Amino acid sequence: MKKLNKYPIVIIGGSIAAISFIRTLRQQENDKKILLIYGEDRLPYKRTKINKNMVRGFEKDDFLIADNQWYADNKVDLINGWVDAIDLTNHVVSTKKGAQFAYEKLLLATGAASVLPRISGIEMQDIHKVQNAFDVEKLLLETKTKQSYLIIGGGVEGIETADQLHRKGKDVTIVGRMKYPMQKLFPTEFMEDLVNGMLKIGVEVYNGVSISSIKKVNGIFETRLKNETRHFDVIVGCTGAVPNIVLAKNAGLNTANGIVVDEWMQTSDDDVLAAGDVAQHKNGEVTGLWHAAEHQGKLAALNLYEKVERHTLPPYRLKTEVFGQFLFSAAYEGIFPEKFEIIKEADKDILRWLYFKDGVLKSVVMRGDKDRAKVYQQALMEAWDKETTLKKIPLPVPIVFSFGAGF
Ligand SMILES: Cc1cc2nc3c(=O)[nH]c(=O)nc-3n(C[C@H](O)[C@H](O)[C@H](O)COP(=O)(O)OP(=O)(O)OC[C@H]3O[C@@H](n4cnc5c(N)ncnc54)[C@H](O)[C@@H]3O)c2cc1C
Repeated sequence: MKKLNKYPIVIIGGSIAAISFIRTLRQQENDKKILLIYGEDRLPYKRTKINKNMVRGFEKDDFLIADNQWYADNKVDLINGWVDAIDLTNHVVSTKKGAQFAYEKLLLATGAASVLPRISGIEMQDIHKVQNAFDVEKLLLETKTKQSYLIIGGGVEGIETADQLHRKGKDVTIVGRMKYPMQKLFPTEFMEDLVNGMLKIGVEVYNGVSISSIKKVNGIFETRLKNETRHFDVIVGCTGAVPNIVLAKNAGLNTANGIVVDEWMQTSDDDVLAAGDVAQHKNGEVTGLWHAAEHQGKLAALNLYEKVERHTLPPYRLKTEVFGQFLFSAAYEGIFPEKFEIIKEADKDILRWLYFKDGVLKSVVMRGDKDRAKVYQQALMEAWDKETTLKKIPLPVPIVFSFGAGF
């Protein structure tokens, strides 16, 4: 019988939650051998970069979080493969190719996968996605010969992709179901300006529209938009992502929208933890952001053998630079304006709305104040009161004179 490779720690899924978990374990002077099984065609990389660098393009190892040497230095064995079963009773994971590994502790860091819209008249493979680096490379190949792009989905991913394709000189049409793009992250007033800017430079924006059928004729896609027949060379689906829970569910772990974890990142099995986009937290939330996944990877490592640090959801933030605007949104989802004191301020370059409850800063949406984005984040993390916030992040921004040598 084939000998089973045994590891004290096995991780399934190679991305930021996994890397942060490894980093933290090593910082804690845990030197137990780790096996990382990653499912993509390259070592873990900065996923956030892939759709923001389409104009410049990228090489296969451009955005790697760490190189081979780092894994070797940190005693991490790497397997490139897809895990398709976990045997919780015997503590064994199996890959699609039939390899099996025994674990003492297991981290599930399987993240999320795109959900593409189901549209009658075309096959799923007709729709490009931008979930993985390989997907973006495939889309970039199209840009060598194709001119017109229909992007379905008006969230951040859709708008960022539209921005990049437009900057590559492509004709871009973006269609979203919501009243405005990025509606979950920004108030209408912010998005009106963005949309007007997009329209001005020739990007077509259709809000409140959902496409139900597309015809493919001689390789060209034909659809109806607001009673007009429109043709496109390429369709890109940016309609969100869902946690990769199938593996965990089949193994018998408790799952709902994500893999259910407690505040210690523990799943329903004592020896299995989950972190990152795949984890569903106590309040039902699945985070879907890079720094949140990083934080959870760290917590999973800290809590691997004993309960050390509870997970509390820190205020999430999203930064994006699209169509010449720097946009920042923190803890905005779920804000009911009537329950907050909102300070709306603007100067020449900056627009910001600060949401206070009981005198404490709870949420920020902002445009143009890129240099101070970290200070807004700090203000939320440390729950600054109104006076402190307005004093430490004043508007207009004070002019700082910097004198060169000789003064
Ligand atoms: C295009 C794009 C842009 C983004 N931009 C931003 C941004 O600007 N800011 C931000 O905060 N967030 C952004 N995000 C979200 C952010 O990238 C994610 O929150 C983060 O990557 C989640 O990390 P994770 O470690 O949970 O897993 P993921 O990054 O989702 O990776 C999980 C990995 O596990 C692998 N895997 C899954 N199942 C298996 C299996 N059975 N066997 C082996 N491997 C498996 C997957 O293939 C994948 O490689 C963006 C996401 C995308 C797609």
